[in-house]
Amino acid sequence: MTINIILLGPPGAGKGTQARTLVEERGLVQLSTGDMLREARSSGTEMGRRVSEVMDKGQLVTDDIVIGLIRERLETGGAAGFIFDGFPRTLPQADALTELLDGMGQSIDAVIEMQVDDAALVDRISGRYTCGNCGEVYHDTTRPTAAPGVCDHCGSTDLKRRADDNAESLKTRLLEYYKKTSPLIGYYYARKQLRPVDGMADMAEVGQQVAAIMDGLGR
Ligand code: AMP
Repeated sequence: MTINIILLGPPGAGKGTQARTLVEERGLVQLSTGDMLREARSSGTEMGRRVSEVMDKGQLVTDDIVIGLIRERLETGGAAGFIFDGFPRTLPQADALTELLDGMGQSIDAVIEMQVDDAALVDRISGRYTCGNCGEVYHDTTRPTAAPGVCDHCGSTDLKRRADDNAESLKTRLLEYYKKTSPLIGYYYARKQLRPVDGMADMAEVGQQVAAIMDGLGR
């Protein structure tokens, strides 16, 4: 059985962290448009150059670009299910996703909405760093690496901070979230697909809430 879920929530809500657990424990494939755009940027493609400045400012990249990335990935198929992480972020993106999945005879099974207070987001984002090799997510105070500068998960020393993880760009990212992405809460609520979780709880507790939702879907 194929199961497709969306992780919805503001920047710093913990979408990437939960997605990684779902990939490891349930064999789903994570589709993060943020990761895809960062990859395009570091590979120096024309599209990467175009989106770079927009991303650093914290604004949203145009719908046609991200929908194109998702379409390309879905067309390669071959997954037991997808976790959409950071996509859709606008109503046109949500409509496009519904249509793309429909064309594959699939649909969205649940939209997990991670609810977190704004004040906590500033803290989470400004202390965040990730492993450039395996993608593990850390935080200066709440989840530092066991040995300074070395990833607990894969041993890499390639730990990095994102260019847009700063207070100025976060302000724009939050505004973009409330203006363009939060209407999706109503969109999926109306479709009876919305499943809120308390993103303020600690990581393990959030993981349990997400696991309970997944188990309820039969996965
Ligand atoms: P993220 O890693 O999900 O926080 O995304 C980082 C940045 O990539 C965002 O601030 C946007 O500039 C861009 N981005 C990622 N996903 C999308 C999307 N679905 N729609 C528009 N822009 C996106």
